[in-house]
Amino acid sequence: MRCFNHQDVEAIGTCKACHKGLCPDCANDMGHGLACAGKHEDVVETYNTIIQRNAKVYSAAPKNILIAPIFYLFMGLVFAYFGYKDGSMTNLPFIMGAGFIVFGIVIFVRNYSLFKSNPKN
Ligand SMILES: [Zn+2]
Ligand SMILES: [Zn+2]
Repeated sequence: MRCFNHQDVEAIGTCKACHKGLCPDCANDMGHGLACAGKHEDVVETYNTIIQRNAKVYSAAPKNILIAPIFYLFMGLVFAYFGYKDGSMTNLPFIMGAGFIVFGIVIFVRNYSLFKSNPKN
């Protein structure tokens, strides 16, 4: 591939914003990709900021993996306890509690598989 601005010069890469070929004179290295010098630096800078922000959110997610399941399990146990205390396993609070517990387990299993499929961890 040749430089978009200099057809006789071999390109060293492409601009992350417009994907045109760039030679060393036309490329500006933005750290995580090249930009057309004097033209697309701000666009590529914005892309990099968005990507880094997403990566941060993604890497923080596994730490919160247990919060939702624990909340539902706790709610489930509270409902189940009061339902059980009322004497019958077929009353509404107990059934709701059992539902919360099942829901908590489902979320935990789903989050845990997401957690394991993330190669960063
Ligand atoms: Zn460009
Ligand atoms: Zn060039």
